[in-house]
Amino acid sequence: MRKHMEEFQLNVKTPIIMESIFILIAVVMYLITSNTFFIFNFLYIGSAISIGLFFMARNNRYARNIILLAVGSYLFFYVGILGHENLSMSGFWYYLFLGVFEAAVVHFLVAKILGPLLFGRGWCGYACWTAMVLDLLPYKTPQNPRKNWGYIRYVLFAGILCCVVSLFVLKLSNLDLIIYYLFIAGNLAYYIVGFILAYKLKDNRAFCKYVCPITVFLKISSYFSFLRVKVDEDLCVDCGKCRKSCPMDVDMLDNSRKRENATECILCLNCIHSCSKDALKL
Ligand code: SF4
Ligand code: SF4
Ligand code: SF4
Repeated sequence: MRKHMEEFQLNVKTPIIMESIFILIAVVMYLITSNTFFIFNFLYIGSAISIGLFFMARNNRYARNIILLAVGSYLFFYVGILGHENLSMSGFWYYLFLGVFEAAVVHFLVAKILGPLLFGRGWCGYACWTAMVLDLLPYKTPQNPRKNWGYIRYVLFAGILCCVVSLFVLKLSNLDLIIYYLFIAGNLAYYIVGFILAYKLKDNRAFCKYVCPITVFLKISSYFSFLRVKVDEDLCVDCGKCRKSCPMDVDMLDNSRKRENATECILCLNCIHSCSKDALKL
């Protein structure tokens, strides 16, 4: 029997639902902080994603890359570089320890800690400024078996935390400026390492799989994600096209939450589009 429960389909209503969610977040954040920036911020991001989803629903193959570029470059260049907000992990720890409930902390809470309970690693598929560039490289699906290098992310996570704590312990002056330069230097390093790994391993998303420290948060929350790809076993003919199209090596043919690389799904929808039997749904 076909299993239609909990299905979510990308259709004409999806952009409206998405825009409504972001309007709600904008209003809630404004009520909490009284900062009008959050209204502009979440309306821009929500509109960029909603317009992109409108074109994704019409099978435009570049729509997701355009969303990534629109949201990622806004956050990186406008909020980060021009606005002097460190939206990376170092900024998150820094402002959290200062007790400043502003851009970096809000950003992490919405996109990387609480949001993934609803939309999994949608951040990685539609908003990350590192991935917006990595996804333009030639290796859209991995050309080699996955490596056992995931421990690197935990080492980096601990390293960044220690680095920020030591800034406070050392009582350095100009901490805001140091954190700003850390944002620029850290992201430059991410791009360089991301490029090298992508070309070395023939896998655009190698950096995401082995190095990115943000996945320490993302993997925990996205395990419980409401939105996830599911297969209708009655429709599936086991052709394997979906697995071959996945940039993150997810076994989407297993519906359990413990499926292989379950917390790696970035909701790119490649697998759903590659299935001619319409056996995969969100
Ligand atoms: S894993 Fe990290 S670098 Fe990759 S898309 Fe997600 S947040 Fe960005
Ligand atoms: S592409 Fe569709 S039919 Fe083929 S294995 Fe995947 S879900 Fe099954
Ligand atoms: S191809 Fe499917 S399972 Fe793989 S990351 Fe994209 S949406 Fe997730």
